[in-house]
Amino acid sequence: MVWASGRPARLASGAHGGYREAMTYYQEQSAVSTGLRGCCPRCGEGRLFDGFLTVKPACSACGLDYSFADSGDGPAVFVILIAGFLICAMALVVEVKYQPPFWVHAVIFGPLVLVVCLGMLRPLKGLMIALQYKHGAREGQLDQNGPDRS
Ligand SMILES: [Zn+2]
Repeated sequence: MVWASGRPARLASGAHGGYREAMTYYQEQSAVSTGLRGCCPRCGEGRLFDGFLTVKPACSACGLDYSFADSGDGPAVFVILIAGFLICAMALVVEVKYQPPFWVHAVIFGPLVLVVCLGMLRPLKGLMIALQYKHGAREGQLDQNGPDRS
């Protein structure tokens, strides 16, 4: 269960009047599912990206502020490791089995590297942002009061 404050709702009547935060219930979404699809990690409906890798300022469906989303170099690292392993393994298998000339490797694996890397970058960025939202991960901060000596 995820309870989150949504857009302010105007009170029709009440002792205080004015605005208050409306509590809205959102069904808990799978971080893997929403992240890989590039959807909002809270509601699962709004789009996360504006363009290829640019994160929108907020969810168009539930209004979640995406300012917390900072995946940094995380997606690129995973893309490098996964694609590097896959492409190198495939190139080695082709070389050992068929011994083709160099240009065959370049023609096959050059474009394959681009397709695999660009294809994995957006889903992995979405996944990392969804996991960041789910676990409340954020940048580390120093304690201004110093270490706890109790
Ligand atoms: Zn949303």
